[in-house]
Formats: sequence, structure tokens, C-alpha cells
Amino acid sequence: MLQQLASMFFDRGKSKEKEVSLDTILEPMDRHLDNFETLVRPAPESKPRTPFASDLPSEQNSRRNLTLQQKMKIIPDAIPLMINMKRSASMYDGTFQPTANEASPEFIAELEALARAAGAKDIGYVKAPRNAIFRDKGIPYEYAIVFTVEMDQEPIETAPSFECFHEVLQGYKNLAVISNKMADFMRKHGFAAYPGTALGGLTDYPHLAELAGLGAIGYHGLLISPGEGARLRINTVYANIINLPTLEAQGKENEHLWVRDFCAMCKKCVRKCPVGAIYDQPRPRGDGGMQTIEHATCRDYFSANHGCAVCLAVCPFSHVGYEKVQARFKGNPDAPQFRITPWDDQRSVNEELIIPLTQ
Ligand code: SF4
Ligand code: SF4
Repeated sequence: MLQQLASMFFDRGKSKEKEVSLDTILEPMDRHLDNFETLVRPAPESKPRTPFASDLPSEQNSRRNLTLQQKMKIIPDAIPLMINMKRSASMYDGTFQPTANEASPEFIAELEALARAAGAKDIGYVKAPRNAIFRDKGIPYEYAIVFTVEMDQEPIETAPSFECFHEVLQGYKNLAVISNKMADFMRKHGFAAYPGTALGGLTDYPHLAELAGLGAIGYHGLLISPGEGARLRINTVYANIINLPTLEAQGKENEHLWVRDFCAMCKKCVRKCPVGAIYDQPRPRGDGGMQTIEHATCRDYFSANHGCAVCLAVCPFSHVGYEKVQARFKGNPDAPQFRITPWDDQRSVNEELIIPLTQ
């Protein structure tokens, strides 16, 4: 796997057929899931994970055409990312036997302190609904700790560029390192803990993060949070801890959903997307969530232009900050109302979970 990951970043000039895609690399990690008797399966309506591979000819893929200097620049992040993703995958070997499944508030506080010291920004908890698990995948336990890392504003605002790509790569590396540290700490205390994959993953991370109360998904399909706007990356640690302080357990609601009322007026990402891939209005996608982007349209431009990221760079929440946007926003009573609804086995998603848009 390490060799494949290295090839993905550093090999140049391979034919399209021989090219190693991230989808191919992630596949063996997903297969480790057969080791789990406790595996939580997706809902029948769950969507598949969006493929990374594009139809773009190899020579047009910016990742495959980095200069020597650019390659040297990303090595300090790409290598630890590869090593830590491999280490995360190795934790799914099915050998760990938990001895505890309830955590004290002190343990949770220690875990959060450890994650923050390692670079995590926001941390939340969720009982993962089955419609957030990708089709044909599964997760070892239904409880998840969701966390974010921040990406710096300066390089992100140069999107699409190598500098922005490098910043995103650093974000992924940080996710991989932090999730492994958290899982190690949890296992040391007897809890089952499985780091999510920094790139890819078994679940829809923005969906989980919204349910955990970390922010709200904007019209660009990315999480918008109070600290970083959309300049963030998300990862998870799946765990057997049955008393995690989820929003539900605390009797709280997500307080950030007003963000989408702002989106309905703003639509800057819709206008600025270089290939018009972002829908003017998110569309129900049949699993209780909303489809915001035409992925096939985004993917080729994304691959040819260092992972693009224009949509997250131009978002006012990334640019001027959540608090300033909130202070100036006077509300939008005409905004279409919708929310991503937790899965409930007793209900049919097609009949009840999709709240129709009002305009
Ligand atoms: S750019 Fe505007 S419409 Fe797009 S996600 Fe950000 S706030 Fe919402
Ligand atoms: S990443 Fe770029 S191409 Fe894709 S939706 Fe965002 S702005 Fe559009």
C-alpha cells in the first residue's frame, strides 16, 4: 500500500491504465471490515462513496505533473500521510479486544486535550446513522468521534494552486496523525477505537460533523464551522463508547443551521465555480441528505488544477469569518428549509425523511 500511495504522488508519465488511483489504494482497507462481527451496515438508500478517479488523460492531471521542487516540498507531508494511513488501516486487523465501553467525563476531557494538543480544532460526537455509511461499506461501531483540522487562509486563498494543494495535503496528514493518536490513547484505556481514513473514508464526514453539531453543510457541500468557515478537513474515530456526549445525549440542537439560510442569498460558490459544478439549489438525493455538486463536472477540473478548492476559498465564512457573517446577517425568511435528518430504521427515507424545498 505504501508503494501505491507513493506512486500516486510521485510517479510521472504512467499510462492511464497503469495509473494508481486512490480508489484502488483504499479498497484493501475497506476489505478489513470483514473482520468485524459488530459491523454496522449502511441503509438501503445510502449513496456510494464518490470515486476519486477522473477520465482526464494522465498528462493533464496536475498531481502527476509536479515539478521536482514541488515534489520535494510535499515529501515532509506526503510520507507521514502515507505511513499514518497505513497504520490506521492496520488497526482494522480484528485483533483488538475491548475491556470497557463507558467513558468518564474526565477521560473525554483528557482525550479532547490530547487531540487539541496534536492540532485538532473542533471535536464532536455522534451515533452514526446508517444513511451516513457509504453503500457496500460498514463501520466497526456506530459511535464516532468527529474532529476537524484548520487549513490556513493565505494558501487557501490562492486556489486553485500548488500552494493550496500543499495546504490541503498538510490537512490530510494532520487528520491521519491525530486520529491514530486518539485511537492509541483510547485503546490504552480499554476502548475499541478505529481511526477513519483521512482520505476517502467509510462514512460521509460532513454529514456526521453536522449531526455532531460542529457546523452546517453549505451550498458547496462542505462543512462550515464557527472557527474556520469551510477551511477545514474532517476525520473520525469509530468507537464502542456508548455514552459519548452527543448533541442528542445533551438535549441540544445544532445551532449552525442558519448558515444555509445565508447560503440561499449568497451563492458565491455557485457563481465562482470555474466549471459550474455547484447546483443553484441543493437537490434531495434520496438518502435523507442533499446533493450539492455535480461530481462528474467537478472531478476533471479538480484533477487538472491541484484539487481546485475555489469554492471553499471564496466562501465568506472562510474569508471574513463565521462571526462577522452572522453579525451582519439579518435572516432570510424565504430560504428553502431543509436539514440532514438522522436515519431511523422505523421510517422510510423516501416517504418521510426528505423535507421538500419550499421554492
Ligand atoms: S459561498 Fe455562499 S452559498 Fe456557497 S457555501 Fe459559502 S456561504 Fe454558502
Ligand atoms: S472544487 Fe472547484 S470545480 Fe469542484 S465544485 Fe468546488 S469550485 Fe467547482
